[in-house]
Amino acid sequence: MPELEPRARLERKLSRALARAVTGFDMIAHDDRIMVAVSGGKDSYVLLHLLNALSRRAPVRFSLVAVHIDQGQPGHDPSPLVDFLRAQGHELHLVRDDTYSAVRATVPEGKTYCSLCSRLRRAVLYRVASELGCTKIALGHHRDDIIVTLMLNLIFSGQLKAMPPKLRSDDGKHIVLRPLAYCAEQDIAELARLAGFPILPCRLCGSQPNQQRKAVDALLADLDSRHPGARANMLAALANVRPTHLLDPGLWSKLGILVAADDETDAAVPLKPQDLVRP
Ligand code: SF4
Repeated sequence: MPELEPRARLERKLSRALARAVTGFDMIAHDDRIMVAVSGGKDSYVLLHLLNALSRRAPVRFSLVAVHIDQGQPGHDPSPLVDFLRAQGHELHLVRDDTYSAVRATVPEGKTYCSLCSRLRRAVLYRVASELGCTKIALGHHRDDIIVTLMLNLIFSGQLKAMPPKLRSDDGKHIVLRPLAYCAEQDIAELARLAGFPILPCRLCGSQPNQQRKAVDALLADLDSRHPGARANMLAALANVRPTHLLDPGLWSKLGILVAADDETDAAVPLKPQDLVRP
């Protein structure tokens, strides 16, 4: 069999990872109209590209709507993105909503804008999804975003949680998908480069990554250089959870766990009825 071109090989790898998330979490249903939030960064371009390819070969019929939000950052020029996506034949909606001014007016000098900025952006996305009659919203978060979030929560919040691959919004009206959950950032960046997506410059907002995020990025880079595959294993761990080996009594109750770990083998063994002590 002839060797695949690097781009085709990468597309195949990423498409498989995307399909794994889509089927594993039952992300797409017949007649879904999925809004893809396209920021102009590599992740969302690749997300749109892979979903578009999937829509052509999937047995389920669904459509895509690309939405770009111009948040009013000084110097923001979406025209390369608009020209490119229109030339590719995508349905594209450009939304201008100056959340930047609101963020500047609210966040104290020296603090990072990202948390408030992304909350406001999410609110705009929800509103636009309703206006456009979209049944779902796809975001470009990938494997490495999920791992960084896991670490941030572990180290700085005392919580064992990452990012949901699929979630319902608090008001119950929207379903948010992260179809790139199994895709590595490095592969995404390489495909974006090979495909020549017109990346819009980020950080026009002038916001800096916060110190916690910087610390986790450095920790993960160090871990990965000493133990290649560490990130992949961390992601695998999120799909291989042993609730009996965690210390959350509420979780035990919720799951109705009536087993305990064997002291010697560490394996979960059923308790005899007389031993049952609900945590
Ligand atoms: S980097 Fe800028 S545009 Fe992006 S989330 Fe942070 S504040 Fe918003």
